[in-house]
Amino acid sequence: MQLQDPAQDKLPTQVYFKRDYLSLVVFIGVLLVSLFGIPIFMYLYDFSWLDWTLFGLLYMVTGLGITVGYHRFISHRSFTSPAIVKVALLVAVGWAMENSALKWCSDHVRHHAKVDQEEDPYNAKKGFWHSHLLWIFSKSPYASEKYLAPFRKDRWIMWQHKYYLPIVVSGFVLPAMIGFLHRGWVGFASGLLLAGVFRVFVVLNSTFCINSICHLWGAQPYGDHNSSRDSWWVSLVTFGEGYHNYHHANPRDYRNGPAWYNFDPSKWLIYSLSLIGLAKTSPD
Ligand SMILES: [Zn+2]
Ligand SMILES: [Zn+2]
Repeated sequence: MQLQDPAQDKLPTQVYFKRDYLSLVVFIGVLLVSLFGIPIFMYLYDFSWLDWTLFGLLYMVTGLGITVGYHRFISHRSFTSPAIVKVALLVAVGWAMENSALKWCSDHVRHHAKVDQEEDPYNAKKGFWHSHLLWIFSKSPYASEKYLAPFRKDRWIMWQHKYYLPIVVSGFVLPAMIGFLHRGWVGFASGLLLAGVFRVFVVLNSTFCINSICHLWGAQPYGDHNSSRDSWWVSLVTFGEGYHNYHHANPRDYRNGPAWYNFDPSKWLIYSLSLIGLAKTSPD
């Protein structure tokens, strides 16, 4: 019989250890479909204008859901919003398949608190691939209640956590059903493959670039006390999250690109929501 470290018993490791294994299988599936399924389907049946439109729309909805919802709203509380906006964002982000807000946001708070250290979940000091992707499949003993507890108090975050799987599935069913109405079973498959699986692959990798590229390459105009970097070109595919050196220096700012000319669609969305009374940015 193997003795366990008593400190480990206090951690909610069981849930996340299981999720890690599940993630590995699902991610391999997404990779294989993206690399082989997409070109084969394209050769045999081709994708329709509707498939590409759904791909673009869902890429924007889920990408902005991550940056505006999980990152700037829930993790950093850079603005407040009515419950209806929070629920809409929590559903949209669920479609990105980046785990529930409880897990994502507690990991992200730990990243800021322990950046470049062993406790940092996507510690860039461990290399590009670790910070980009491989950290997801690691069993982190540092995912402690200290980081989870503040998010457990939020009923909508816990609601999303409870119904995370059906929300994820609905992100695949939706484009498949719209495709079915357009082209029957071929449309079902094309919607599922392009606007479902391949869109998840693209959104996942664009988000991953923040943790890898933006901690390895780029300018450090706001200080080199941690590895965060500004990369304007990463912002082009991540809805403005490339200005990561500024973000680490000013995590409560709803903007990541502070200058008016910085490409930051996430700040434009938050600002637009504030104009119609659906967001209130934090003064500090
Ligand atoms: Zn952050
Ligand atoms: Zn960072």
